[in-house]
Amino acid sequence: MIFSFLKSNAKYNENQRLAKHVDKLESEVARYERIFKGSRGYGFVDWDLASQIMYWNGAFWQFLGYNEDDMLGISDPYRLADFVHDEDKKILNNSIRMLLRGEAKADVILRVRKKVSGYIWAALRVEAERDPAGWVKNISGIVFDISKIKLTEQALLVSEARHERIIRSSRDGVWEWSVDKGEFHYSNRCWELLGYDEDDDVITKGRDKWKVWRSLMHPEDIPVFDKALRSHMKFRTPFDVEYRIKGKDGEWKWVRGRGQVVFDENGNASRMSGTNMDITKLKLAESRVIQAKEQAEKANRAKSEFLSSMSHELRTPLNAILGFANLLSTDNSLTEEQRTSMREIIRAGNHLLQLVNDVLDLARIEAGRMGVNIELLSPVEVMTECIELVKPQAEARGISIECQSNGANNHYVSADRMRVKQVLLNLLSNAIKYNKKGGFVRVCFDVLDESKIKVSIVDSGKGIPLDSQGDIFKPFNRLGEEGSNIEGAGIGLVITKTLVEQMQGTIDFKSEPGKGSEFWLEFPARKIEEVVNAEQVEIEAELVVEELQPEFDAAINVLYVEDNPANQRLLEQVLARYAMINLTITAEPMEGIYKARKEHPDLILLDIDLPELSGHDVVKILKQDAQTKDIPVVALSAKAMAHDIARGKESGFDDYLTKPFDLNRFLKLCNELFAETA
Ligand code: ADP
Repeated sequence: MIFSFLKSNAKYNENQRLAKHVDKLESEVARYERIFKGSRGYGFVDWDLASQIMYWNGAFWQFLGYNEDDMLGISDPYRLADFVHDEDKKILNNSIRMLLRGEAKADVILRVRKKVSGYIWAALRVEAERDPAGWVKNISGIVFDISKIKLTEQALLVSEARHERIIRSSRDGVWEWSVDKGEFHYSNRCWELLGYDEDDDVITKGRDKWKVWRSLMHPEDIPVFDKALRSHMKFRTPFDVEYRIKGKDGEWKWVRGRGQVVFDENGNASRMSGTNMDITKLKLAESRVIQAKEQAEKANRAKSEFLSSMSHELRTPLNAILGFANLLSTDNSLTEEQRTSMREIIRAGNHLLQLVNDVLDLARIEAGRMGVNIELLSPVEVMTECIELVKPQAEARGISIECQSNGANNHYVSADRMRVKQVLLNLLSNAIKYNKKGGFVRVCFDVLDESKIKVSIVDSGKGIPLDSQGDIFKPFNRLGEEGSNIEGAGIGLVITKTLVEQMQGTIDFKSEPGKGSEFWLEFPARKIEEVVNAEQVEIEAELVVEELQPEFDAAINVLYVEDNPANQRLLEQVLARYAMINLTITAEPMEGIYKARKEHPDLILLDIDLPELSGHDVVKILKQDAQTKDIPVVALSAKAMAHDIARGKESGFDDYLTKPFDLNRFLKLCNELFAETA
């Protein structure tokens, strides 16, 4: 009885335990079911080889659009391949075969067909379970969607291929340096640039690629390369360096290396990648251009030298012609006819001098040596002076000149007085030269926005043909006036434009054939009140144009060292009018030095081109001698180029006067030098 109770009780306990176990199993199965169902894109397979049924779990097939009915086919191992892309069927079959033959695992990527259309990329990872005899019992595992990974991978491949194509088409070599590991990679193209092909890899075999590369670099360029690299690493300046490297044929090739370092989170360089470009041809072309430029500059310098010496040759006789002609014209015994001839000589001489000066100016402009001395000046006053100068020319042709200052009198511009005069005289004389008889010239000032002065010169001349207006600022272009009897060389406007622009001004024009032309200039201007007092005093003093008539108490002893007798006589006669000037002349430089020591003159005038010793040598000797070093020495030379004057100043001349002899400048100089003794 008790036994049957125990027995039934034991059964009861066993049932209880089993029931509990079943409950637990049920809830675990339910949990896995939930997990499988929720796992979109994942499928779990267990293929029982004995029953030839594939048990599928998870939502993989639903994810592809299949339903419960379709699962019948999918669960049949013989039909599974129907759901795989034709090209991948072999992969599936092979992996199954391998598992059956003994492989433990298979891991493949396949395209699986969606129910409606198309495929997805899926990864299948399965393992085989075997019985003790080694026969496969089950093949179980997981399949999951990897379309996104595959798409990214494909995009990466496309972009890599694109980069590859770009780099290949650029014909540049590519290199990479793992800074931390110290490893270098050079693409084949890098070696191709040096003339090696793939088989020539021997040159780096077993050796550090960078060391090989560096050993081929030109020794002079290695420091340049290293400096560029250091500054890229330290200051992150772009790494872009050109250097020579020896090619397989032993010739130097030019390479342009560019690169970029990548820094890690601690700011240390971790990797540097870059390109090498063959610029040998470019460099050759560049050196050819530089050579051509140097040759052109040499030719230009030769031209300037030629112009300088030509000016000397022309100015020396011209100095004599104009000087004596001026002297002769004051001779009262001349007949009226002779006087007219003298005037003609002087006019033609002055014209020739103007041409020489213009050509010299052009040479200076071309050599970039046209300097300007900027001072504050009143353009209205300078214009008034210029109009006075051209009046005789205008009156001779019955042309009237009118000037409207329109409130510009109080405005000043920063410019070079001599050059402004040159510009205005050129425009005024053109307005007269190319005018009709009895015509007019109208000068008109305008103040623009209180900060600019505009001056226009309007004429009633024949104007400029429309088709040649574009050539007006080109040198030696006379726009059809070549055959006319109007004097000119076609360079006045070129010089004018350069001068105006050098003084921060602008020039423009308009012209109507048959009616006349208008040329106008614009300069930045200031009102006199804006100028500080001290400056103002200085300006006002400078604006006074005075006739220089020095009246000194003591006589001024001038020693003139000049070998040309005509020049000697000219100065003698010009200065003869000034009783206070005692002139001593010598043709010999050595005698000049002797006289300077012995007589200690107040001023020495020195020609440059002297026999045996040049004026530069003489001034150096005088300035080194304690007895003569304080005597002002002024050059009087026909060498009038800016570099001649600069050289004169370097040699020690206190001033530099150019021929033809400018009496006004000379007297002004005397005033400045001896003002205290006056
Ligand atoms: P030049 O007067 O010595 O020939 P410019 O350089 O001063 O040289 O002028 C160049 C050319 O422009 C002149 O030859 C002339 O044909 C033309 N030209 C200049 N100014 C005027 C003007 N006011 N009216 C008509 N033509 C002018």
